[in-house]
Amino acid sequence: MVPSEEFKKKHERELEELKKCMKELKEDEKVLYSKECVAHSINFVVDKANKEVTTLKDYERFSCYLATILARDKEVVAVWLRVLSDHCEIYLSKNFAWESQDVKYINKIMMYLKDISKNAPAYSDRNESAFAEAITVYCSAKFESRYKKLRDYIKKNGSSEHVKSFKNFFSANINYVDRTSMIMTSHVCNMYYKKIKDKNDEKVKFSVLSEFLELIKKVGSYAGSIIGIVECARNTQYKSLFSNSIVIKRSPVIINNQSIYSWKNIIRRFIDEDKYEDFMDRCLRKTNVTERRSRAYTDHATKQQQPLDGGDVKQYVYLHAEMNILSYIIDNKIYGREFIAVSKKCCYLCELYIDFAQKQGYDIIVPGNHKKIYSGWKLPHVKDDNFKISSLRYILENLNRIIGQKLEHYTRSLPAGPDNGGNSPNSSNSDGRYMVAPFKKVSKKVKMTDLLFDE
Ligand SMILES: [Zn+2]
Repeated sequence: MVPSEEFKKKHERELEELKKCMKELKEDEKVLYSKECVAHSINFVVDKANKEVTTLKDYERFSCYLATILARDKEVVAVWLRVLSDHCEIYLSKNFAWESQDVKYINKIMMYLKDISKNAPAYSDRNESAFAEAITVYCSAKFESRYKKLRDYIKKNGSSEHVKSFKNFFSANINYVDRTSMIMTSHVCNMYYKKIKDKNDEKVKFSVLSEFLELIKKVGSYAGSIIGIVECARNTQYKSLFSNSIVIKRSPVIINNQSIYSWKNIIRRFIDEDKYEDFMDRCLRKTNVTERRSRAYTDHATKQQQPLDGGDVKQYVYLHAEMNILSYIIDNKIYGREFIAVSKKCCYLCELYIDFAQKQGYDIIVPGNHKKIYSGWKLPHVKDDNFKISSLRYILENLNRIIGQKLEHYTRSLPAGPDNGGNSPNSSNSDGRYMVAPFKKVSKKVKMTDLLFDE
């Protein structure tokens, strides 16, 4: 049947409408990426970081441990466990591409876990040691940087009571030969963190500076995660989970050359030329603003500074690891409680997007937020256009408010922002004493580190 003239016209009109919509979406997205750079520069920290989620189910805590041991260096890793009736799917995503060494490592880890689970309740020292060794080697760069931060803190604050108390605990719980072992140090840090945290005494919490405890927690997170994972694998309740688990690695989404509006173009949408000049003068005196701005407008490929009032500014944008998993959940309309573990706390834009998804009925939980705005944050492209458009508008409304308010009060001092941002899961309840032998084996094989305390 030949379509009627009227039908054809209606179809054309709809097509026009859709094209217009898509063009608007593209334009709004360009504005989003442009505003991210401005917001990142002038208002990096939006609010105080909020408390971490503390009531997690066993398998959710397991996801946190996995996220910790899968983050090799600077990358962020997100983990989501989808527990189905007869098997379990482990979704992994990372900001950037999976390298062959990552793939090999993940396969190895899964193999050890299946073996540990199969043998349980029998205990095979060999498996546990090999498992701990693989993690210690893979995570060594990140471990060392966390270790160094703790060491620097101890050097600077050696005479304070809380450092002395930690030193006493450390010496009492580690052998002379193990003092330079990364994994044994991590184990003792994990024990100390749990001891302090479990003492639900406000005085203790107050006397041990939370910054110091956070550093100890991060160093201890490796031994803590290893113990937590082994425990979960040894739990007979989860046998089927490990024998039938499938790992699904999500591909990264990166745009190398996203076109954006210049710094000036965006700021002039909020204030007039006179105020702009004034504002620029003030910015010059704020080194943290100019530093962040120069990073945000550096061309990713050429490492050259792009003009603040130029017409052809490019930005490198990529999908954050947790957004990669969330877009899968949305595309598949999964409405149950879904916990996404992340090796770092969520940034402010991810938090906004999760807020929006929650308003649409998705029960998404992440371990914590640090309220910082990063440039180069990519909007997830979910299949549902309505969702995509409305989420974009929601984020833009918030950015407009933040930029508008900041520019209005630009005479007030701009916050420098504390540099925290790491996230480690809660420790498991066991003291993991049975892992001491495997850890000691690892210590003999994996390279040693500097002493934590000067002698
Ligand atoms: Zn993020």
